[in-house]
This record gives sequence, C-alpha cells and structure tokens, in this order.
Amino acid sequence: MTWEWYQKRIAEFFRRVPRARVAEDVKVVGRSGVKRQLDVQIFLPMEVKLSEEITVTVDIHIVVDAKKHKKPVEIGLVGQVDDLRDDIGAHLAIIASPLGFTKGAQRRAPKVNVALLVVTSDLLEMLNKVKIPWLHSCQNYLCEEGRGYIDWTLRSDKRQAVLGSCQYCDVLHVLCPDCGAVFVVHEFDEGKPLKCPGCDRIYRAGRDEIHEPWVEVRDELDVMLMAAAHANQSKRISKGKAEKIIGRTKWQHAAGPTRNITASGLMQWTASGEFLCLTEDGREDYETFIQAAEEASQ
Ligand SMILES: [Zn+2]
Ligand SMILES: [Zn+2]
Repeated sequence: MTWEWYQKRIAEFFRRVPRARVAEDVKVVGRSGVKRQLDVQIFLPMEVKLSEEITVTVDIHIVVDAKKHKKPVEIGLVGQVDDLRDDIGAHLAIIASPLGFTKGAQRRAPKVNVALLVVTSDLLEMLNKVKIPWLHSCQNYLCEEGRGYIDWTLRSDKRQAVLGSCQYCDVLHVLCPDCGAVFVVHEFDEGKPLKCPGCDRIYRAGRDEIHEPWVEVRDELDVMLMAAAHANQSKRISKGKAEKIIGRTKWQHAAGPTRNITASGLMQWTASGEFLCLTEDGREDYETFIQAAEEASQ
C-alpha cells in the first residue's frame, strides 16, 4: 500500500459526497502572501436554513494535510496546520496520518479547527459532525426517478456500515464507511453477499420478520486473511504470510490488525502464535458468505 494510495482514498471518499468539489495537489497563495501547497482541497456545499422561507447554500472549505511520517504526528504540527488553514481561509483542516498521533497532538486538535484522521472510515463521522446533508437519490431502478431520497437514519454503526431506506419506495441502501460508496440492496438481493462497488468490503443486508433492518460486513483485511488460509489444505497461514497481507492494508488497521477477525471467532492464532487458522465457523463463513460474493461479482 503506497502513500499516494492513502491520499487518493481520502480524495475519493469526498468525491462520493454529492455536489462536493475535490482537487489534489493544489497550489494557492495565502492571505500572508506565501505560496501554499495543499494535498487535498474540498468544497462542500451545505444548506443553511435562515427562516421558513430563506435557505442559503454555504461552501464549507476543508483542507487535508497528509503526513507521510514514519512515526505518530506530534503537537507542533497541529499548530502549523491550523496556521495553514487560517492563512488560506479554510473552515476545517484534516491531518491524515496512518500511524496515528501523539497524546499532545490529540489534546491540541479539539482546541483549534483541526481534525485528526487515522483510518478513512473516520471521515464519515467527521461529515456527520458538520451535518453535511447526504442527498443521495434512490438507486432502485424500479423507483420513480427523482422521487426517492435516502433516509440514512435507519441504522448507523459508523465503523461497520450505515443503512438507509428510500423514503419513496422503502428499498434498503448501504453507505460504506470505508470508501463512501452508496449502493442499493434490492429485495431479491437481501441476505445475499454483495461486494461494495468502491472497495473490497463484503456486505450482507436485509430485513427480519418484523421488518427491522440488519447488516453484516467483512472488511478487506479479514477477507484477504480468510481467502489465503482457505486456499491452503491446512486452512491456516504462517505469521510471516499474515504479516505480508497486513502490510498491504495496515493503514486501514492501525490498532491490532487481526483483532477484528479473531474477536468474531472466524480465525484464531495458535497458542505459539505461529499460525493464524480458520475456525470451523470461519470456514463455513468463507464458503457461504465471501466466496459467494466473489463469484457473484465476477
Ligand atoms: Zn426509491
Ligand atoms: Zn466500500
């Protein structure tokens, strides 16, 4: 996984926000007269209701500073980025660091207009905080065009998935917090594994007997680990092999990269820590859930 990939992914996330304008590697002259280089620059239109009759659209201006340091970002940088934000007149600055931030940096950031980002799924939480309207149109081809907007309040476990339904036809939609993609879950696809169109996450969503929506997700790293183990006769992979796979995705999994999959009981480390093995549940899960999704998307 390269540095450029991380920056691109952040830009890509914002490109999926309706009506957002996103540019990469922008050069601007600040109010101080100094030339500044911005990794990613975003303008997000937001509607502000002044009264019953008057609504105005305001552009929220965000800059992203992507840090390619080999260690956590320190407090001094938070101040520098806030100065940059002020100089170019942006509302919010985001510092993206796959290796995280020192305690001092974390304490400083909330006091200035700087948000700290480790994994791209945190972006969704940030957008929710500034209350950007998610004006997504319904993607059900049977729905009447222009009638349906998605209500995202149905279910929201921000790390996992955001689930919404069309206010006109009631069909389910998933918003992937990892890449920002939105896709429809038609009634005939409920319960089936579906690959996110924007990344490698695999989803299953549907409604139970009392019409309550549910959603399940396997993230990219989990899928890669399970696939590698499943391909072996022994249904396990060595520590070295696991580390190689983590190396390709670790910027998305800063803390405890295999915790997700071991906590869910789908894989487990041997007592010696030498091998990561698929459990019975994991094997079944792989065959019924992930393999089915891979086949469906081919
Ligand atoms: Zn609809
Ligand atoms: Zn995705």
